[in-house]
Amino acid sequence: MRALTKWLSSTNISKLYINGEWIDSVKNETMPVINPATNETIAKVGVARKEDVEKAIVAARNAFDNGDWKTFTAFQRSELLQKTAKKIEENVEELAKLETLNNGKTLHEARGDMEAAADTFRYYASIIMAPMGETLQVEEPLISKVVREPIGVCGQIIPWNYPLLMAAWKLAPAIAAGNTCVLKPSELTPLTAIRLFEMIEEIGFPSGVVNLINGTGVDTGQPLVESHLVDKIAFTGGTETGKRIMQNSVCNLKRVSLELGGKSPNIVFADADYETALDHASFAIFNNSGQVCSAGSRLLVEKSIYKNFVKDLVKVTEKIRVGSGFDEETQMGPLISKNHLEKVRSYIELGKKEATLVCGGNKVTNDKLSNGNFIEPTIFMDVDPKATIAQEEIFGPVLSVIPFESEEEALQIANDSPYGLAAGIFTNDVAKAERMSRKLRVGVTWINTYEQNLIEGPWGGYKASGIGRELGTYGLDEYTEVKQMINTLNVAPTGWFSN
Ligand code: NAD
Repeated sequence: MRALTKWLSSTNISKLYINGEWIDSVKNETMPVINPATNETIAKVGVARKEDVEKAIVAARNAFDNGDWKTFTAFQRSELLQKTAKKIEENVEELAKLETLNNGKTLHEARGDMEAAADTFRYYASIIMAPMGETLQVEEPLISKVVREPIGVCGQIIPWNYPLLMAAWKLAPAIAAGNTCVLKPSELTPLTAIRLFEMIEEIGFPSGVVNLINGTGVDTGQPLVESHLVDKIAFTGGTETGKRIMQNSVCNLKRVSLELGGKSPNIVFADADYETALDHASFAIFNNSGQVCSAGSRLLVEKSIYKNFVKDLVKVTEKIRVGSGFDEETQMGPLISKNHLEKVRSYIELGKKEATLVCGGNKVTNDKLSNGNFIEPTIFMDVDPKATIAQEEIFGPVLSVIPFESEEEALQIANDSPYGLAAGIFTNDVAKAERMSRKLRVGVTWINTYEQNLIEGPWGGYKASGIGRELGTYGLDEYTEVKQMINTLNVAPTGWFSN
């Protein structure tokens, strides 16, 4: 911890990483970074205003249009990504502690995130080496080849719930495909990204290829979105912000990919393996303190097992150990901020009017935790599927349990949502699982498991949960333009106008 404390007062913290250098912002402004477990200020990081954002964009533009980056082969880009993965792996413990300090999540969760971040860089380092493009079978004398090219300058805006992992999901495929990037982390959790960029500097990425700006959505994110020099915006965050970003990026019709919110149904049929379903039901909503886009926040349980299932779930939930992420015994850390805590509490108050509270519902007030944003894991039962707590994303450890009587009813309730990110299905009937899986209007389904996130597969949502996909080869495609190159074996005039 001593090394961490020293790093928190080091000079790079108050700077921005632009064009391969740590530089002061034009106005030399800083903003506080808060530890959500205590609400104490732990560092002051540099803030980028419009002029700084423009500098970062110009650096990325220059690196893309005029720099050596263009000549980097897939092999060379792969090497940079492999080195980044290795650096993260060598520093997992330090990065995990930094993440826990800034985000509040348990060290156990943070270590997993760091490993997944390293794996993401390694995955894209490997798939970029595979052959790309295709030759079409067209009529002679024509030849048609389809190639993929980088899009250009990518503005990447990320949230606070998985700070370093979200940075990896954005940077790795973009760099693999040969783009240049300007990354803006959440103003609430900028620290691990700063540390990552120190590693990027040590590795020796060409200047301007990756740039880091910190600051708020309006002051720092918006100028990035509105810039004519940016070719693509990749955004992860709330649905309302996503809509604003889409409107604001229309100026030059830049490419936009959006990973947004969710209200994912987790559906438990009476024929499911009971213990498995019970275990996953609590993991689905309470891991990362419920601050997960794909959290199983609507639990649909078949009526014949409903009462017992809820009773047993309450027993499991009451045992969850809430506390500091640094305490190895802790299973659930604090919420990210005082504001967010208040938002979650207001949903709980509303829930008390809309449904039956059967577990939790209070801020944790014991001596050690009273200054932090700790809340009890909370369960409401008999929730009307149309109730606000069953329709809106709460983004905290608050579960709405809803009974259902038939497969059709479960499907109808599950799909009755503006969102469509993910869904869980617990049953031992293979055909039923397959039928449900196909009819659910979501981007990812899990059968007899929940929250399995595979780097190799596409991640993203239907409806208001977003546009585009991250991860897998799909995530790489989102960072490329497709070009068809048509040639002829017969170099001759057409004769069209010569008669
Ligand atoms: P948020 O929308 O408040 O902020 C996300 C990012 O956008 C931050 O960096 C913020 O500074 C920036 N931002 C805010 N306003 C902006 C603007 N006008 N222009 C440009 N940038 C702007 O979201 P949050 O509270 O940080 O994160 C929680 C949300 O993220 C939840 O809704 C969650 O579901 C979603 N999320 C989705 C996924 C996914 O994969 N679908 C993953 C993680 C989180």
